[in-house]
Amino acid sequence: MTAVLHIRNIVKQYGEARALDGVSLSLPGDSYISLLGPSGSGKTTLLRVIAGFERPEAGEIHFQGKRIDTLAPHERGIGFVFQNFALFPHLSVEQNIGFGLTNRAVDPILDDALVTRRVKDMIALVGLKGLEGRAISQISGGQKQRVALARTLVTEPKMVLLDEPLGALDANLRTSMRSELRRIRERCGVTFLHVTGSETEALAMGDTVLVLERARIAQHGDADTIYNRPCSPAVARFLNCYNLLSGRVEGENFVSPVGTLSLGGLHQKAANPAYAIRYDRVSIRSETASLGEGETGIEATFITSEYTGSAVNAFFMLADGSVFEVEQHLSHTPPSTFEPQARYRLAWKREDALVYA
Ligand code: ADP
Ligand code: MG
Repeated sequence: MTAVLHIRNIVKQYGEARALDGVSLSLPGDSYISLLGPSGSGKTTLLRVIAGFERPEAGEIHFQGKRIDTLAPHERGIGFVFQNFALFPHLSVEQNIGFGLTNRAVDPILDDALVTRRVKDMIALVGLKGLEGRAISQISGGQKQRVALARTLVTEPKMVLLDEPLGALDANLRTSMRSELRRIRERCGVTFLHVTGSETEALAMGDTVLVLERARIAQHGDADTIYNRPCSPAVARFLNCYNLLSGRVEGENFVSPVGTLSLGGLHQKAANPAYAIRYDRVSIRSETASLGEGETGIEATFITSEYTGSAVNAFFMLADGSVFEVEQHLSHTPPSTFEPQARYRLAWKREDALVYA
C-alpha cells in the first residue's frame, strides 16, 4: 500500500501551549486508521490542521502527491465528520445529505436529477433507506451518525476525517456502528482517519493505529503490534490492559517493591526501568503452587472480580498496596471463584513481559 498522506514536522501552538509538537507521519491509502490518545493530547487539533481549519506554525502536509497545507479546506479533497454531527435540524435526511453538493463553493451540482441519484446511492450505502423524508429530530443517534457520514461521502472526498464519531452514541450502538463504519469504508475505498479516546475502539477498528501522547506521535503500527508491543510505559498504561511495575534491573532479575521477577536473560540497566505484563497473560494459582519452566510471578491478595460478559477481571493487591489486574477470557477457562483476602500466586511466562529501559 502506498502512502497517500505525508505529514512532516507539524507544530501547532495555542498561546503558550503546544497542541502539536513536531508531528510527522505517513498514512496508507484505502485503509482504516485509528488515531488514539488521551483527552488533550492534540487529536482534534491534528484533524483540524489536516482539514485546513487551523494553520500550523511549522511543517508541511502532502496529500496524493500534492502539497495541501497552503490550500483552503474545500480545495483539499478531504471530508470531515464532526463530533456532534452538526446537521441542519430543519432539513430532512435527504436534504441534509444533498446540501453539500448543491451549496458548495467549488463545482456545485445544479442538475437536480444527478443530485437525487447521488443522494439515493449514498442513502443506500449508509443504510438509511425509507428515512429519506424524516426530519433530523425524528431519527435516532445512530441514524444521525449515518446522515453525517453520508453528507460527507456524497461529495466524494479522497479521505475522511472523523472526530470521535461514536462518542455521542450509547454503548450498544457504539459497538454495532464499529463494523458498520468499517463496512461503509470498504465499499467506498476511501481512507478513514478515525479519532477516538477509546483503546478498545482504536484497536478493533484500525488497520493502522496511531497513538498520540502529549502533542507527539508515541507509536504508529498495526493494532496487533500496538496491543502486544506498546513502545513505552505511557502507551502501555494508556492501553488499559497492562500491569506496570517500577523497580530496577539486577543481573537477570527485575527487582520491584512488590517482588523479584526473573527475566530469563540479561537486560539493560536504566535509571527508571518499567516492567509490564498484560492482564490476560497472567494465570492465577494457589499460593503453594510452584512456577513452571520459563515462568515468573508474584504473590498477591485477592480483592474482587468483575464480570464483563466475555471475561472476568480479577483484582489483586500487591505488597505495596497497588492493584494488579488479571483478565480471564471465558472462552478459554470456565469462571473460577477466589476467596477474598486469601493469598494467591500470580504467574506468567517470562517472555510475555515487556521491560522498558
Ligand atoms: P484532544 O482532541 O486530543 O482532546 P485537542 O486537540 O482538542 O485535544 O487539544 C490539544 C491541546 O490544545 C489542549 O491542551 C487544548 O486545551 C489546546 N487547545 C485546543 N484548541 C485550542 C484553542 N482553540 N485555543 C487554545 N487552546 C486550544
Ligand atoms: Mg478532541
